[in-house]
This record gives sequence, C-alpha cells and structure tokens, in this order.
Amino acid sequence: MDTASGSKVISPIVSFRILNALLLLLIMINLQGCSRVPTSRKIQVVASIEPLAYFVDRVGGDRVSVSVMVPPGGNPHSYEPTPKQMERLGRAALFVKAGSGVEFELDWMHRFLDLNRTLAVCDASTGAPLIPMTISEEEHEEPSGTGSHRHGQDDPHFWLTPRNARTIAANVERSLSTVDPVNRTYYAANRAVLDKELQELDAEIRERLSGLKNRHFLVFHPAWGYYAGEYGLEQIAAEAEGKTLTPVQMTKVIEKARAERIRVVFVSPQFSTTQAEAIARDIGGVTVMVDPLSRDYQQNLRKATTAFVRSMR
Ligand SMILES: [Zn+2]
Repeated sequence: MDTASGSKVISPIVSFRILNALLLLLIMINLQGCSRVPTSRKIQVVASIEPLAYFVDRVGGDRVSVSVMVPPGGNPHSYEPTPKQMERLGRAALFVKAGSGVEFELDWMHRFLDLNRTLAVCDASTGAPLIPMTISEEEHEEPSGTGSHRHGQDDPHFWLTPRNARTIAANVERSLSTVDPVNRTYYAANRAVLDKELQELDAEIRERLSGLKNRHFLVFHPAWGYYAGEYGLEQIAAEAEGKTLTPVQMTKVIEKARAERIRVVFVSPQFSTTQAEAIARDIGGVTVMVDPLSRDYQQNLRKATTAFVRSMR
C-alpha cells in the first residue's frame, strides 16, 4: 500500500523515447483518420441548379461534395458558367442536370463533355412526366426563338412537386451507385429516408390546399405549372419568355387579374420585380416572393404553399 516505495523516477532518455513513440502514434492515428475520410476522396458532384444539389446532399450524405453551377439568385435560363466552374467540372465524377429544357445546360453540355470525357451525367428529369409550358396571355403574338422559354417546349420547372422530387432522388441514387458502387447501400438507405419525407410533404401540401374554393394564382414568371397541375390549381402567367412585357401585354394581364379578382402577384428572386409591382399597384394588390430555386427544398415548398394558400383564401 506504500505508493511512495519503488522507483517512480523515469530517466530523461526513457521519457524522450516515450515522447517520441507517442508522437509517432499521434501521427499514425492522424494519417489513418485522414485516409478514412479524406475530403479529396469524396465523390465530386456538380449540380446545375440549387434544388438538385439538395437531392445530391441528402442521398450522397458525407460521401459526396457538391457544387452548384447557377448561383443563388442567378437565372438558369440565361446562365453562363464561369471558367472556375468549368475547371471544377473538369475534376467532377458526376454532373446532375435538370435536363428538362433548362437552356444553359443544352447550350453548354457538349463543352462540359469535351472538358471531362469520364464525367458521368445524371438527368434528374428521367422518368418525370414533363408538361408543356404555361402560355401567357400574349405569347402567340410574340416572335419565337431567342427567349428564355422557347415556344413549343416542355416546362423546365419539373422539380417543384414532391412526386417529381421522389423521381429525382431515385435518379441521383442510381447515378451515385454507378459512380461509387462500394457505397450503394448507404445511398439506398439515405434515399429511403428522404422518400418517406417527400411522401409526407406531398400529403401535407395536398391537405393544406384541399379546402380552397378559389384555385388560381398569378405569377410573373411561370415556374409553378407542375405544382399547380399536381394540386388542381390554375397558374396564370404574366410572362413566358423571360422578356419585359409590352404595354399591351401589361394591360391584358391587369384585365385578367381584375376579372379573376386577383390581389397577389407572385415574383421570384431571379427576375426583375418592377413590372410585377406595377401590375400589383394597378389591381390594388401586392407582390409576394416565392423561390423556385431554393436549396432548402422541403422548407421552401412549405413556405410557398403558405403563400399560395394565403393568396387564394
Ligand atoms: Zn424559369
């Protein structure tokens, strides 16, 4: 029991060796730690737009690192990637594109693929039924061609229903499992969790919109056609080409809004709100922001639903 007995003195040489051994051990642990979760070995993914990055994040978890082409507030209909983004794409393993007629993708795709011949491409819209673009009041009188939404094309904003979101998640899972088969059960598990959440989100939105008698809403840029179709609403669009409205078009929209007793003009961060505000003033209403391109996908759809419900009550 005498703890003071026996030699407790460690010679300087021995303690130096212990210190060295400890240092070496620390370095080894550190190296091992690095090789277990090396950031450089995460699957590098580029998504064309923010909402698609959400699905890559959720399905890929800590196995992926995702960057986005079109920055928040940027307009995917007229976007041009920067040289830095092109460089990043050159190192990526997977590109997730909207694929539903988002024009910068169409125009840049061949350049993407020239830059990176081993790049896997995930078309997020595969298996999602596409619908035609909502026609604005004056669209048939507009010259076709260079606008952001070309005539006769599918509506590109397919990601804005939970039903299509489930399809996107499945597409992302399939692509990640092809690029990184070792982790396919991890991706499948992540997708299963997300899939359940999206089914609940769909039920929630359906319930919240079910009681409304008035079922139409006015948007400046027609991004909510899939959402409207899914939940039995009518989207009235001010513009369809991403162009400034002519005075004649403005008058038509205002007349229509008055006839339908509309008080809210929905705007999005990607487009100028000047004309929408002018319409709102004329009908004695307000503009309300809803974002079709938020990264925080589920929360954003809940927010948008709240805004739509309020405007139609
Ligand atoms: Zn759009």
